[in-house]
Amino acid sequence: MKSYSMLSRQKAFEKISQTKIWDVVVIGGGATGMGIAVDAAKRGFKVLLLEKNDFAKGTSSRSTKLVHGGVRYLAQGNVKLVIEALRERGFLLANAPHLTSIQKFVIPVYRYFDQFFYASGLLLYDILAGKLSLSRTKLLSKKTLLQWMPTIQKTGLKGGIVYADGQFDDARLVIALALTANDLGGAVLNYANVVELKKKDGKVSGLLFRDEETGQTYDVASKSVINATGVFVDAILELDDKSSPAAVMPSQGVHLVIEKKFFPSDHALMIPKTKDGRVLFAVPWKNYVVLGTTDTPLLEISEEPSALQDEIDFIIDHFNLYNDKKIVREDIKSVFAGLRPLVKTSNNKSTALASRDHTIIVSTSNLITITGGKWTTYRKMAKDALNNAVFVAKLPVVKCTTRNLRLHGYTETKQQSTLLSVYGSDAIKIQELMHADPTMSERIHPDHECTKAELIWSVRNEMALQVEDILARRSRMLFVDAAAAVSSARKVAEWMALELNHDEAWINQQVASFQELAKTYLP
Ligand SMILES: Cc1cc2nc3c(=O)[nH]c(=O)nc-3n(C[C@H](O)[C@H](O)[C@H](O)COP(=O)(O)OP(=O)(O)OC[C@H]3O[C@@H](n4cnc5c(N)ncnc54)[C@H](O)[C@@H]3O)c2cc1C
Repeated sequence: MKSYSMLSRQKAFEKISQTKIWDVVVIGGGATGMGIAVDAAKRGFKVLLLEKNDFAKGTSSRSTKLVHGGVRYLAQGNVKLVIEALRERGFLLANAPHLTSIQKFVIPVYRYFDQFFYASGLLLYDILAGKLSLSRTKLLSKKTLLQWMPTIQKTGLKGGIVYADGQFDDARLVIALALTANDLGGAVLNYANVVELKKKDGKVSGLLFRDEETGQTYDVASKSVINATGVFVDAILELDDKSSPAAVMPSQGVHLVIEKKFFPSDHALMIPKTKDGRVLFAVPWKNYVVLGTTDTPLLEISEEPSALQDEIDFIIDHFNLYNDKKIVREDIKSVFAGLRPLVKTSNNKSTALASRDHTIIVSTSNLITITGGKWTTYRKMAKDALNNAVFVAKLPVVKCTTRNLRLHGYTETKQQSTLLSVYGSDAIKIQELMHADPTMSERIHPDHECTKAELIWSVRNEMALQVEDILARRSRMLFVDAAAAVSSARKVAEWMALELNHDEAWINQQVASFQELAKTYLP
């Protein structure tokens, strides 16, 4: 298949009209679906990925931003999951250095026994990582800990432990995966809502999707269809068979974002045991600090989940227990919630204890469904799902080679500007835009480094179509400073309208709908 340099809706539709039958069609443009699209394209299959909203609109932009083995799963005895995640952590850090980094985590201890207890667990974590270990776990004296974390709660502090894990920009990594799939000849399309599955002799033979931009529907034929819609897999399973049992048990996790002045440290804080037996993090991210998360079972799911009052209080209370510089609700710059697609089993008693493993369902129609898992293990999940599709659709057996596949933008030298660094090797092209036209250096908002050049770049090359796409997922302003994002909406809409040829009515509609959406992010 012919590949194009960057993402383009026009080119994607051209490929759709030219392709009589796809090898693989993937439903869902989050980490899992994009991972499958990359793997399938790398194996040389004709692959099309369809996302109902924008890429990464779902859980994949709402994580705690950790590329991790999951220390707490070790405490639950799930060694297999931890080993798998530690391996994947190593691969991801090596393949996407522009979007990931090593982050040091500190556990403060207030009893000497805890220092011994957590240090032994983390030593095992290091050993399980083997050659892919990021750094040795070490004991910390009280003095060093206070130098590293001056605001930590001092009364009774004995010392701490420091260990390393990975950190990343989740939504930008989805975009990098979309670009990688595209580079390898695959087709990806956002605002493409799958509304019907097509069958021949009881087997899935394709699907119908609606272009949410124009309302037009398209029929596509495919040898295999993979349902990678995260917490929404049950809706697709129902399209296949109305009597399908639920596969997912949704659980909400909330994060609060605060300014660094409340927690002035380059190290992340790990609170090892909350009241509900979870861990809680305070992680420096993009000049802010992300606090989270919670684990609240839900019966109803929505595309724009919102934090419950209790969840916000829970995070504030726990953070304040461990930090001398106390925060109140008014200090929160942004609140964001995500839904975990936990695998439903008959013996799930609590979502906090439910397995973070993934599951694959092969329906009698040959529809492949994959859900559960973690962002960190997206590549392994993709490989497993695609292997199943290859088997049921009798596609040529080709080995998965994504383990060492460098993702789009891969660069060994990080760019000077920390914010442009997420574009990796594309950063230079954004700088060229700024050099060619000085107005491109104008910031979207005075308090944030994101410029008009980045917006134009994302519209031209990353399929950003709506104001939300820019403010929530190409730049991450909505996730770190919701009020600033709201006040930037009109400027963003006007710049996008010029680039995309939209009128005043579009600008007004975009501003209104972004303001409505942003309400759930404002504390
Ligand atoms: C609070 C929280 C914190 C987390 N933190 C971490 C972390 O730090 N590290 C980590 O490794 N993991 C973390 N995870 C887990 C991780 O984020 C998820 O496992 C992962 O993002 C799930 O990706 P996905 O692609 O399966 O689902 P999603 O990202 O939800 O993608 C599914 C997509 O399918 C689309 N879709 C739905 N219906 C249709 C349709 N009809 N047609 C087309 N498209 C459709 C949706 O719009 C959505 O974009 C966290 C999860 C939560 C909830």
